[in-house]
Amino acid sequence: MTEGSEPPPRFRRVLLKMSGEALMGRGQFGHDPATLRQLAGDVRAVHAQGVEQCLVIGGGNIIRGNVAAASGIERANADYMGMLATVINALAVQSSLEQVGLQTRVLSAIPMASVCEPYIRRRAIRHMEKGRVVICAAGTGNPFFTTDTAAALRAAELGCDVLLKGTKVDGVYSADPMTDPEAVRFERLTYHEVLMRDLKVMDASAISLARESAIPIVVFAIHTAGALLRVLRGDAPHTMISEDAPRTEEAAR
Ligand code: UDP
Repeated sequence: MTEGSEPPPRFRRVLLKMSGEALMGRGQFGHDPATLRQLAGDVRAVHAQGVEQCLVIGGGNIIRGNVAAASGIERANADYMGMLATVINALAVQSSLEQVGLQTRVLSAIPMASVCEPYIRRRAIRHMEKGRVVICAAGTGNPFFTTDTAAALRAAELGCDVLLKGTKVDGVYSADPMTDPEAVRFERLTYHEVLMRDLKVMDASAISLARESAIPIVVFAIHTAGALLRVLRGDAPHTMISEDAPRTEEAAR
């Protein structure tokens, strides 16, 4: 199929949740330059189709609140440290997006005037309308939450048509496909099934929030170059989580 005959993206405004781990590539910490370049290329490809994009960035490649708390730091303090880690990641992603020619704005839920803009809902929408990629940092701005919940929250309040959750594998599986050859990928799931089966795709508060706002969640392989656009065209493997989805399972391979 030629480029011109590709189906158009199915969504007008999307939210992409990128975990901190996704930025590490095969490393154990920090940022992998090749991975950042690949992600930037994928975001640019979607932008070129006229799709408005908002990114919510995690911080797990630097610090997670629960892990820091286990080592003796007060939990709320540890969570603020985690939120600051997401700002570091947001700046790294901003830089890689700018290197591929995109206009971006980092908006932080914790005001940080010398580093980036504060998160203001109307401003975020305006940036997207002007073709800028909005990068939401510092999660919800509150301890005891995660950036998955922040992603569902921002998707709801920014009027996103879908929440794209990039993971290491191309969807939600019945078991860990890395270790269990019997694992099968779900083509579709309902929010209820994800919660009842404790499928660990996102935390329960994020799933519930997406459900209340009727925002579908699409789980896909973030490290497969080009998958982001293909998924938006309905043309690459993924799992769609929505209300009343008839559940089917398909072979992982
Ligand atoms: N965090 C928080 N409130 C939020 C979002 C994040 O306290 O609204 C903290 C929390 O400690 C978390 C850390 O920031 O462990 C990093 O975020 P997350 O674990 O969601 O990152 P990811 O797993 O997506 O890389």
